[in-house]
Amino acid sequence: MKPYRSLLFYKYILIQGAKEFAACHLNFCKSIGIKGRIIIAEEGINGTVSGTLEQCEQYMNLLHSDNRFTDLQFKVQEVDKLAISKIFVRYKKEIVNFNQPHVDVWKQAGKYLEPSEFIHEKDTGDAVLLDVRNKVEWEVGQFKNAVTLPMDHFRDLPTFLPQIERYRDQKIIAYCTGGIRCEKATAFLLQNGFKNVYHLHGGILEYAKHTGGKDFDGKCYVFDERLVVDVNEVNPTVISKCFRCGVSSTRLINCSNPECNNHIVMCDECGWKHNGACSDECSSHPRNRSYVGTGYYVKGKASAW
Ligand SMILES: [Zn+2]
Ligand SMILES: [Zn+2]
Repeated sequence: MKPYRSLLFYKYILIQGAKEFAACHLNFCKSIGIKGRIIIAEEGINGTVSGTLEQCEQYMNLLHSDNRFTDLQFKVQEVDKLAISKIFVRYKKEIVNFNQPHVDVWKQAGKYLEPSEFIHEKDTGDAVLLDVRNKVEWEVGQFKNAVTLPMDHFRDLPTFLPQIERYRDQKIIAYCTGGIRCEKATAFLLQNGFKNVYHLHGGILEYAKHTGGKDFDGKCYVFDERLVVDVNEVNPTVISKCFRCGVSSTRLINCSNPECNNHIVMCDECGWKHNGACSDECSSHPRNRSYVGTGYYVKGKASAW
């Protein structure tokens, strides 16, 4: 058994006094020493935390003892080391930035498909798999035959509505990493008159856990220091290439130039050879951070967060 746990969770629920709740929550996290990134808004909570088994249990117990979160589902993963080295609890306007105030997730999100249903449904008849993640994410991994959109930010989804329009009469099954974006994406589609809208409950990560990840090509981008995780144990493939030399690789890094910080796929060899930079210009940039073999840089040194 690995020594640490990583918890991924979210829930859309009205949190009154969300700002004060966030401050309180930060104190609690500090008191038990758990690390992570948690966003709290009036519309709900979204977080990833990481700690020892005991810290994670304390954390889950606290949330479950709160009426609003008794049914909150944690995705628990065993990890070798802390996935996050600091604790951030932030109040924001939305737990996922979408900027469509009229989209009401509580009222009308799409129907859930459990991973066991999804694995069959995805190959049947007229189902369209809609990846609602950003380009940098689906470039390293996506479901076979998925429809992807060249988005830099989730909030750009509405501008791609014309591209989704052609699937209006089909069954749309949206998916994302853990499910949180799908709730808004499907609510948005329903709001725009789409009828047959589903989404993968728990996202790619739950799918991987329950089905072995069949038909997911590449790896899954995650929002912590691991950058990507394995999904498919059944028929795995690699779909991404090293940005520098073109060799097959799933190694995602941040460009070592903090003013660039691009997410790029780079093989280990090129990482060392080019000092973790996406271009020669970035490599010779005066602020270039020294490459340590991971391509991950913590905040304060201009990381991706
Ligand atoms: Zn390379
Ligand atoms: Zn760069």
